[in-house]
Amino acid sequence: MNDTLPNCPVCNSAYTYEQGGMLVCPECGHEWSANEADTAAGSSGVTDAHGNPLNNGDSVTVIKDLKVKGASAVVKVGTRVKNIRLVDGDHDIDCKIPGIGAMQLKSEFVKKA
Ligand SMILES: [Zn+2]
Repeated sequence: MNDTLPNCPVCNSAYTYEQGGMLVCPECGHEWSANEADTAAGSSGVTDAHGNPLNNGDSVTVIKDLKVKGASAVVKVGTRVKNIRLVDGDHDIDCKIPGIGAMQLKSEFVKKA
């Protein structure tokens, strides 16, 4: 069983599987696109320091030392950040950094890894 796939949005079954780029639910027969979330994020227009489009779930590298708001910690240049989430706002990346925790970054200070 692959627990990285989302549950069926119709019957909430956990036994969904992937077939030809579509997600399929064996219990109710519902089929939907696995890429719907990515497509929506792609239209958000968030790009990295080099203008490459960023999507939810991407990994990025920090290109500049960044002070963490309200803490003495610094996110060092070269820090690899996995599984980013795009959000609205001045800081448009929501992420978790090992050793620091959940924080938000500006997309202009990262590059796609
Ligand atoms: Zn279902």
